[in-house]
Amino acid sequence: MSEQPARVLVVEDETAIADTLLYALRSEGYEASHCALGREALALLRAQEADVVVLDVGLPDLGGFEVCRQLRTFSQVPVIFLTARNDEFDRVLGLELGADDYVTKPFSPREMVARVRARLRRVPQQTQAAPVGEGGWKVHGAFAVDSEGLRIRYQDVLLDLTRYEYMLLAALLQRPGAILSRAQLMERGWDHASDSADRTIDTHVKTLRAKLRAAGALEDPIRTHRGLGYALEA
Ligand code: CA
Repeated sequence: MSEQPARVLVVEDETAIADTLLYALRSEGYEASHCALGREALALLRAQEADVVVLDVGLPDLGGFEVCRQLRTFSQVPVIFLTARNDEFDRVLGLELGADDYVTKPFSPREMVARVRARLRRVPQQTQAAPVGEGGWKVHGAFAVDSEGLRIRYQDVLLDLTRYEYMLLAALLQRPGAILSRAQLMERGWDHASDSADRTIDTHVKTLRAKLRAAGALEDPIRTHRGLGYALEA
């Protein structure tokens, strides 16, 4: 971690939960701030980017999902959802909106801090220009991956990928030809394997294929292996 403490914004309307969380985060040396409303959170994040956002799904003004959707139009800050119930709908929709993780209430402050720490590890260092590669692009056949900018080009066309699609495709590109099971793919992009994993992966593969077609792919470079998973054409 850099010398600057990481900034965590907690968006939660229940004071008791927010206080517990702020206390736990500050004890670990994070610079934690708080707001109780979705619109307020968006205004704050437009003014100053946070390193991680902990976002309650049930907010009184804009719901957490809507906040996340709007947030993604201008920021790729990692988002951890707080959900009231272990609801499959929440999980899948959260993924599709570009959230990075979720924690179900009630949660232990320690668990939450661990999740925040995990998110911070995955964020590329933005404060210092880390000299990795030439312009950050690494070529894999017809694909080129910019792992710092979280971008992928296909035949020189920049793919407009969600965060999750990016992670999925990047995982396949890391091991061309290897069959990765849905559970393995789920692990790459999401901390929790779950019974909704297969459906979620299939959904994202479907949208990825459509984007590759739109980028000029004549043949589908992602091969489905029935009952096993997916592989990228080597
Ligand atoms: Ca709430």
